[in-house]
Amino acid sequence: MRLADDLQVKGKRVLVRSDLNVPLDDGTITDDGRIRASLPLIRSLAEQGGKVIVTAHLGRPQGAPDPRYSLAPVAKRLQELLGRPVRLARDVVGPDAQSSVEELREGGVVLLENVRFEAAETSKDDAERGAFADQLAAFADLYVDDAFGAVHRKHASVYDVALRLEHAAGPLVAAEVEVLERLETDPERPYVVVLGGSKVSDKIKVIEALLPKVDQLLVGGGMCFTFLKAQGHDVGSSLLEADMLEQCRTLLESGKVVLPVDVVAATAFSADAEHDVVDATAIPSDRMGLDIGPRSVQLFGQRLEGARTVFWNGPMGVFEMAPYAAGTRGVAEAVAALDGLTVVGGGDSAAAVRALGIDESRFTHISTGGGASLEHLEGKVLPGLAVLED
Ligand code: ADP
Ligand code: MG
Repeated sequence: MRLADDLQVKGKRVLVRSDLNVPLDDGTITDDGRIRASLPLIRSLAEQGGKVIVTAHLGRPQGAPDPRYSLAPVAKRLQELLGRPVRLARDVVGPDAQSSVEELREGGVVLLENVRFEAAETSKDDAERGAFADQLAAFADLYVDDAFGAVHRKHASVYDVALRLEHAAGPLVAAEVEVLERLETDPERPYVVVLGGSKVSDKIKVIEALLPKVDQLLVGGGMCFTFLKAQGHDVGSSLLEADMLEQCRTLLESGKVVLPVDVVAATAFSADAEHDVVDATAIPSDRMGLDIGPRSVQLFGQRLEGARTVFWNGPMGVFEMAPYAAGTRGVAEAVAALDGLTVVGGGDSAAAVRALGIDESRFTHISTGGGASLEHLEGKVLPGLAVLED
């Protein structure tokens, strides 16, 4: 893969695909981590005298302009962080985008409006995507993909445009690929994976791919209840995926899966609900497990001790509510304290690290791309990477 650093960008128009898909609450950015992560490439291209055209998506608009998903708040934050003017085009490839690009000077930055306002961006039809990619490519001389979080998508701004322009990988994509390859190829042992989050079904493929390669798999979060149920325990009203029980039983046969021994069980999915720590094997029928308990944090901490390679994906509980954040905090602290290669993957896991105020630099790497990292670990070919490798 060629890197952005290998390109001659002075005076050239550079189309950059960034991952600026930040969480918004009523128009306010609640976590600007992805914008911050995208800064180094944009800054470097601008400083080298490139004319920088950034394209990105936000949320899931239905292929048409929708003010709720405008990149306006992102443009404002990007400008503050970058310390350079960032002009937001009001459309993606329309007249305002065209004139914004035409007026770009060396060192200037334009952010095109949410690329998913164009239905063609995500179209399954190659010709439709291609026609849109032609329009995007016409804006630029070079293409740099820095949106690791989107490389598993065969989208126009990720895949087709790279076929049309001289291209390179940005530093985020390069760093992610390097770390994932270290996890996949001959990882230093012991290799421990910690998985959480809400659903087993979301992660089943990655669990199946990882299990033969890891020494231990620690399971928390909403998905642990399907495993506990598969062992024959009652899980009350906790998250349960009945159609995954059989697969969980098979995974348990590996002897590598470690489950929580206690959980924080609440009367309702609410921060105000009555809640107690109970044995994981004795969850009352009217309670739901919303976090792993303190003995489980201790157990997971012991299993992590001495690990040389750790991949952690998915919060251990509903960390967004303070009474159920201790499990995620405890496991995050245990992983952060290790000396080996420690990788955090997943949008919510990365957000949890920041929300809980844990110093990000204590991990080797925090992945910005949840789905993309998981698919890479599953061994899938990611279209956005394959196209850069040509
Ligand atoms: P990531 O984005 O890191 O891959 P996921 O999207 O799989 O993580 O899961 C994150 C979500 O899982 C969080 O919003 C969290 O509230 C939820 N979650 C964790 N534990 C539980 C639980 N016990 N019950 C319900 N939801 C849970
Ligand atoms: Mg998530």
